[in-house]
Amino acid sequence: MFRIGFGNDVHRLEAGVKLILGGVEIESNFGAVGHSDADALAHAVTDALLGALALGDIGAYFSDKDHQWRHADSFLFLRYAVGLIKEKGYAVVNLDSVVNLEQPKLRPHIDKMRENLAVALEVEINCVSVKAKTGEKVDAVGESRAVKTEAVVLLEKKI
Ligand code: MG
Repeated sequence: MFRIGFGNDVHRLEAGVKLILGGVEIESNFGAVGHSDADALAHAVTDALLGALALGDIGAYFSDKDHQWRHADSFLFLRYAVGLIKEKGYAVVNLDSVVNLEQPKLRPHIDKMRENLAVALEVEINCVSVKAKTGEKVDAVGESRAVKTEAVVLLEKKI
């Protein structure tokens, strides 16, 4: 039995804030604003995992009203979602994802993001794809006002 899940996310960008994507802190003039560490890629992947098994969304487990998740490492949310799908007897087959960000260029960081995600998802790195797109100077991404992410995961029932 296979299940597919989709997740996306958007965070506003501001000067003087950290930019963390896929567990990698990226040197940038603008960072993502959020309650947690605002790792929009980790959030999209977490939602994709939850969505694959119709387990709700990240906000149902880690409310942005809950003070304990202030500045939290978003990989904690991701690992929690992996634990839930494992409890249900599923394992990740592969992940495909997109980060939409005008600047800086993400290429130098992509393999580290893939490695971090592969460890969290308990898969080989060749099962994890992270792609980077710019916004061609239009919309909130193109104007460097936001980072947007999308993720699709495939799960397989193992037991
Ligand atoms: Mg988010």
